[in-house]
Amino acid sequence: MKKIIRIGRVIAVFGLIMILTVGIIIVLFCRRNKAAETVIPDDWRLILVNNTHALPEDYEISLTELSNGKKIDSRIYSDLQEMFDDARSEGIYPVVVEGYRTHGEQEQMMSEKIDSYKAEGYSKKEAEKLAEEWVAVPGTSEHELGLAVDINPDYNYSGDDELYRWLADNAYKYGFILRYPDGEESITGIAYEPWHYRYVGKENAFDIKNSGLTLEEYLETSF
Ligand SMILES: [Zn+2]
Repeated sequence: MKKIIRIGRVIAVFGLIMILTVGIIIVLFCRRNKAAETVIPDDWRLILVNNTHALPEDYEISLTELSNGKKIDSRIYSDLQEMFDDARSEGIYPVVVEGYRTHGEQEQMMSEKIDSYKAEGYSKKEAEKLAEEWVAVPGTSEHELGLAVDINPDYNYSGDDELYRWLADNAYKYGFILRYPDGEESITGIAYEPWHYRYVGKENAFDIKNSGLTLEEYLETSF
């Protein structure tokens, strides 16, 4: 009888250990997947890519090359072109200085930024932390999505302030939003970038502009 009870206990303990182990494995697996990949929504214009939503490495995109060699998602080309044409008609001459970036290019950018901080005397850990304030961790940059553009002025015609003001006032009409507004770093994870515009489509851009929300907040409250 005692023997049976002992065997029963051993089985119970073993079973408990098994359940706990499987539970821990499931939790770890879910966590890893959550950090690793973004769920692609039905609407491609609203894909969220940020420091907690990485783009799948196999994300496929059809690109259009601009006259200066920069590339963007083909689906945003006509709206971008229309925005630039209208800006030019008002004496503002925008230039896309950065569009689509491959995963490898993003990795290269990050390592160069870290190296530059290390060269200034920061430790590896400090350099990585500082670099991440300016460069998105590979897989988490909107430039890898092809829906973001960094816009500078053609300095022969206008300065930064004029262009940024024009974009802040008008870009939404063409489906673009100021993606990293001043004072919203705690939500977007990125410092103010008056040159970085993200395509979300005209309706969404209109709502975001009017509400003053970031893309993160808009997705959370509207869907
Ligand atoms: Zn950018």
